[in-house]
Amino acid sequence: MRTMFPDSIQRVLVTGGAGFIGGAVVRRLLRETDVVVFNIDKLGYASDLSGIDQTLTDLRQEVQGRHQLLQVDLVDPAATAAAVRQADPDLVLHLAAESHVDRSIDGPEAFLHSNVIGTFHLLQALRQHWESLPLERQQRFRLHHISTDEVFGSLGPNGRFSETTSYDPRSPYSASKAASDHFVQAWHHTYGLPVVLTNCSNNYGPWQFPEKLIPVVILKALAGEPIPLYGDGCNVRDWLFVEDHVDALLLVATHGELGRNYCVGGSGERSNKEVVHAICSQLDGLRPQGEPHSNLIVSVADRPGHDRRYAIDPSRISGELNWQPRHSFEDGMAATVCWYMDHLDWCEKVQQQSGYGGERIGLRRG
Ligand code: NAD
Repeated sequence: MRTMFPDSIQRVLVTGGAGFIGGAVVRRLLRETDVVVFNIDKLGYASDLSGIDQTLTDLRQEVQGRHQLLQVDLVDPAATAAAVRQADPDLVLHLAAESHVDRSIDGPEAFLHSNVIGTFHLLQALRQHWESLPLERQQRFRLHHISTDEVFGSLGPNGRFSETTSYDPRSPYSASKAASDHFVQAWHHTYGLPVVLTNCSNNYGPWQFPEKLIPVVILKALAGEPIPLYGDGCNVRDWLFVEDHVDALLLVATHGELGRNYCVGGSGERSNKEVVHAICSQLDGLRPQGEPHSNLIVSVADRPGHDRRYAIDPSRISGELNWQPRHSFEDGMAATVCWYMDHLDWCEKVQQQSGYGGERIGLRRG
């Protein structure tokens, strides 16, 4: 079945497809198109293929051979070039990155390596691939680079980020993503590589590694453990359900204007405090524990340099490509809380595999 892809796209390379958003992209491609998906991932601490395996099992013979994992670290230029040659892609969605701000505070070098140097190696390999394609394939090839709204810095109480907002990254993570965005644009302007970019707000949903705010809160609340709230809890993010992000990515990848970036956000602005309380009150209904789960909330030291507010003006993508999020914050969050309640064994498995037990990181000690 081909619901959204031009027939000319047959081979799609996804980087970071063993991660949270990349996995959602791969699963969608397997379910709703008949392209062959090549998945470059180094299989780092946040990687897991259970979601993709489950989709492959559900679809059985329909997807025979349509997902090919290429375990490669983009930091290795020769392995990256070989993987690109093997994938021989018509379209590339580049999501591989170190993605957790707190980890970037403790260990910024890994972010420089994966997000900047890794992107550079991918660009070099893709440029070689693109230049060697026959004209007809060359004309329809494109790279979609997936970035974040964090490159724009921090907002006050008013205003929203848009495609014309100046870059002002303030964490090692956002600095590394901003640098990678600039490299991608430079390869477009200097070498003509056909690229599109998106800058998206915070995602949430199933299969997110349990170190980010929403799965951490759900798991702590279910375990009856203290729920950490950074600082005064008033930092605001524009939350987007991951499947809505996938809708946007596939639209931009196939119909976005070359050289252009698109801001993606769910108009789901919530303070961290509001998010945590929303999860707690949902769990009060689903898993009553005698007293409100919100009694478990404790204020902890704030993240160093914690950006105050992010918000997105999605006018370009909604006006030009007719994208709208399909899930309200309430619906997406309800589905996410239920999903984690049903997948506690997965959470335990990935935490054990990664050696991460839910402890606080990113406090700039030492
Ligand atoms: P994630 O951490 O869940 O997954 C990232 C994946 O990339 C992992 O499987 C990891 O192994 C892989 N990876 C990292 N470095 C690599 C390297 N050097 N070589 C090969 N593979 C490598 O991250 P995510 O939340 O799915 O984010 C995916 C992308 O979307 C990132 O580029 C991130 O900056 C961007 N983004 C994320 C959000 C969000 O809220 N999670 C919002 C906007 C943009």
